[in-house]
Amino acid sequence: ASGSAVTLQELDGLAMRSFPLCMRHLYLKLQEDRHLRHGGRQQLGLFLKGIGLKLDDALAFWRGAFAPRMPAEKFDKEYAYNVRHNYGKEGKRTDYTPYSCMYIIMSSPGVGDHHGCPYRHFSPENLHAALSGMRLSPKSIDEVMEKTRGRHYQLACAATFEGAHSCQCDGINHPNQYFEQSRKFLKE
Ligand code: SF4
Repeated sequence: ASGSAVTLQELDGLAMRSFPLCMRHLYLKLQEDRHLRHGGRQQLGLFLKGIGLKLDDALAFWRGAFAPRMPAEKFDKEYAYNVRHNYGKEGKRTDYTPYSCMYIIMSSPGVGDHHGCPYRHFSPENLHAALSGMRLSPKSIDEVMEKTRGRHYQLACAATFEGAHSCQCDGINHPNQYFEQSRKFLKE
């Protein structure tokens, strides 16, 4: 974690500039569908915790994201427990840590799920479209697609980082590390 808190207001901007593709995709899908299934809520929720989103802001974030389709009372009854649980405030009070790339790459999202690693789980067409959405140059996209075809998913993610930031990447092994690296670079 960065140590410094991230506020609700900053999230949209951070998602577009500094989230790795797996989290950017979940973030955009959540805005589009106003819902995410359990696997997606876990993957994105723990990542957001890792970048420094406090529990109260996390509750407000999910409640607000679901709001067009779900009354606050229903959210508080059926979903808030899980958010608090991820922050170690319910059940065994374990302070859960965000998922690593390896864990995400090994996951098996089903139909209707949006979690997972796009380099591992997207079709080539969908990956290409997502990379275009990040405004990567055709040359960067070619490089990412080539690494993906070779099943070098984390190298593909690092190439995406380089294309999006126009700088060298130290390698990617964790979505939160991608984020930290991006923040560090953009602040320099
Ligand atoms: Fe996310 Fe890691 Fe896949 Fe990059 S390599 S998209 S950070 S799971």
